[in-house]
Amino acid sequence: MKKQQNILIIGAGLCGSLLALRLGQRGYNVSLYEMRPDIRTANISAGRSINLALSDRGIKAMKLAGIEDKVRELCIPMNGRMLHDIEGKMVMAPYSGREHEYINSISRGLLNGLLLNEAEKHDNVKIHFNKKCKSVDFENTTALFKDYKSNTEFVEDADVIIATDGAGSALRKSYYLGKKFLFSFSQEWLSHGYKELSFLPTENGGFKTYKNALHIWGRDSFMLIALPNLDGSFTVTLFLSYEDGEYNFGNLTTEEKVIEFFQKYFKDALELMPNLIEDFFTNPTSPLGTVKCSPWHYKGNTLLMGDAAHAIVPFYGQGMNASFEDVTVFDKVLDEGHEDWETIFKTYEKHRKRDTDAIADLAIDNFHEMKGHVNNAIFREKRNLEMALEKNFPDNYSSKYSLVTFNEDISYHEAMLKGRAQDKAILNMLADKELDLNDDLKTNLEKVKAATQEILDEDRVAKDFKH
Ligand code: FAD
Repeated sequence: MKKQQNILIIGAGLCGSLLALRLGQRGYNVSLYEMRPDIRTANISAGRSINLALSDRGIKAMKLAGIEDKVRELCIPMNGRMLHDIEGKMVMAPYSGREHEYINSISRGLLNGLLLNEAEKHDNVKIHFNKKCKSVDFENTTALFKDYKSNTEFVEDADVIIATDGAGSALRKSYYLGKKFLFSFSQEWLSHGYKELSFLPTENGGFKTYKNALHIWGRDSFMLIALPNLDGSFTVTLFLSYEDGEYNFGNLTTEEKVIEFFQKYFKDALELMPNLIEDFFTNPTSPLGTVKCSPWHYKGNTLLMGDAAHAIVPFYGQGMNASFEDVTVFDKVLDEGHEDWETIFKTYEKHRKRDTDAIADLAIDNFHEMKGHVNNAIFREKRNLEMALEKNFPDNYSSKYSLVTFNEDISYHEAMLKGRAQDKAILNMLADKELDLNDDLKTNLEKVKAATQEILDEDRVAKDFKH
C-alpha cells in the first residue's frame, strides 16, 4: 500500500483528531475537515459533555500516538464512586481492589486541543475548520462541503474518506439515503435526557467537595453525577426522564420546582450550587441514544469510525475510550500489510463490530446499575466481595467493571461475556446464601470461579444448540 495516499477525515472531534495524528505519523497525506471553528481559539462549548472519564483503553491509544505523558498532565484521577445518599452521607466505593486502577477526569476541550496540536505538527496533516460536510458520494469518493466563512460549497476528493463526524454522521446519512447497498441502521433513544450543571470552585480556586472521585447521587429512576475539572470546578450532570415520574424535564419549569426537587433528592449537592437556577435554565437538555449500523464501509472508498459508527449511552464512561480504541485496532490492521483499502476496512470491521456492540449493551446495563443498584444491599455485598477478591488475588480476579475499564488487552465482547457470567454467579449465590462473606476468601474465589465457568459453559452450549 502506497503511503502517499490522500485520506480525507470528516470531523475533528476526539476520534478524528487522534486518527489524523496517527495516520500522519504513519506518513499518509491527511486532510481533516471540521464544521466548527477551531476549539483551541474559539469560545465554543465542546458540544457534548464538558469533561469525560478517560480509562485504560483510551490511554493505550494515547501511548500508541506517543502522547501519554502530555495527556496525563490534563487528568484528575478518580479512584472510585463517591456515593451520596439522600441524607447527604457519603461513602467511597473504589473502582477496583487494585490501587493502581483508577479512571481519569479530563476536559474534552483540552484533550481535543492537544490532539489537534500534535496532529498539526506533521506537515502531511492539514486541518480545515468551519467546513461542514453535507453529503458524501461514496461511489466516487468525494465529499460536498459548505464553507461557513465564505458561505460557498465545494467538493473534495480523496483516495479514501473516513467519517468521524459523531452520532449524526453525514456519511452514515449518505449510506442510508443512497440506498445503493444493504445498510442496516438502528437508533434507540433512552426515555432519559441529560442536563449539565456545575459546582463552581471555592473563592481560592479549590474544590468544594472531594476531588478524586466520580460523585454519584443515585435515586433509582434518576441520578446526578459530578466529575472534577482542573480549575477546581465540577461538571455536574443530571440524568432524568423527559416525562415520567413525579419530577421530570417536562415539569421542572419553574425555579421553585427545581429547588424543591434538588432539596428533596440532592440536598448536599444543592448546598454547593448557588448557581443552580442559572445553569438549569441556560443549559440545554439533550437526548441519549445508541446507534448501531452495518456495514461501516463501502468497498475500499469510505469508512465510519467513532460515534459515527457506534454511538453509545455514557453510563460506562466508554464512548470516547471505544472511539480511541477504534484507532488502535485500525492501526493494528494497517500493520498487517494488506494490499488494498477494501481488505483493510473489511478486516477492521470484522475485528471491531462485535466489541462495539458489546460496549453499547454494557452501557445500557450500567445505566440501571448506577441509578439504583449502587444503593442496593445485595449489590453492595457483591461489590465488597469483588473488591476483596481483586485486592487479595490481583492476578486472579477482575470484576466486570475492571474487565471493561482496566483490562485494555481483552476485548469488550470477552469482558461482557465473562463479566456478566461472574455477576450472575455471585448474585445467585448471595441470594441463595451459598456464599458466606465471612468464609475464607480463597474458598469464595473458587466458588465464584466454578459457578462462573458453569454459566459460561451453559451459554456456550445454548449458543451452539441455536446454531
Ligand atoms: P464527536 O466527539 O461527536 O466528534 C465529532 C466531530 O465531528 C465534532 O467535532 C463535530 O463538530 C464534527 N462534525 C459533526 N458533523 C460534521 C459534519 N457534517 N462536517 C464536519 N464536521 C462535523 N465517553 C467516555 O469515554 N467517557 C465519558 O465519561 C463520557 N461521558 C459522556 C457524557 C455525555 C453526557 C455524553 C453525551 C457522552 C459521553 N461520552 C463519554 C462519549 C463521548 O463523548 C463520545 O463517544 C466521543 O465524543 C466520540 O468521539 P467522536 O470523535 O467519534 O465524536
